[in-house]
Amino acid sequence: MPTQPQNRETTTAPDTDPRFEIPLRGIDVDPETRCAHWDDPVDVVALRFGCCEAYYPCDACHDAAADHEAVPWPRDRFDEPAVLCGACRTTLTAREYLAADDDVCPACGAAFNPGCRKHRDRYFETDGDGAVDL
Ligand SMILES: [Zn+2]
Ligand SMILES: [Zn+2]
Ligand SMILES: [Zn+2]
Repeated sequence: MPTQPQNRETTTAPDTDPRFEIPLRGIDVDPETRCAHWDDPVDVVALRFGCCEAYYPCDACHDAAADHEAVPWPRDRFDEPAVLCGACRTTLTAREYLAADDDVCPACGAAFNPGCRKHRDRYFETDGDGAVDL
């Protein structure tokens, strides 16, 4: 069961969710970017994909809301905003997000899900041996 069953929006391409300043879409998205797939209190991160420049709460949201395969954020753009904190709506560069070793938002201190580290390769281009290096 969703922790916040109200205020859920599903937005699919080419539309974007009007509640957010940046282009964002996904499935059952709450105002802090929890979604149908990741719905714990700490699931407040949305990530941008290189294929369509939009943010999604997770890769399953991308695959459900877009009409193409997800392309991870490219290494040569790690200094561009690619991560949204749903708690304070601040965008972080990929480098800021990946370099933080405490799993909290550097802007507001919201806790991020530490389990996201296990599948960073779905969201950020790897160096060829499966690691996301800065
Ligand atoms: Zn895409
Ligand atoms: Zn999702
Ligand atoms: Zn924040």
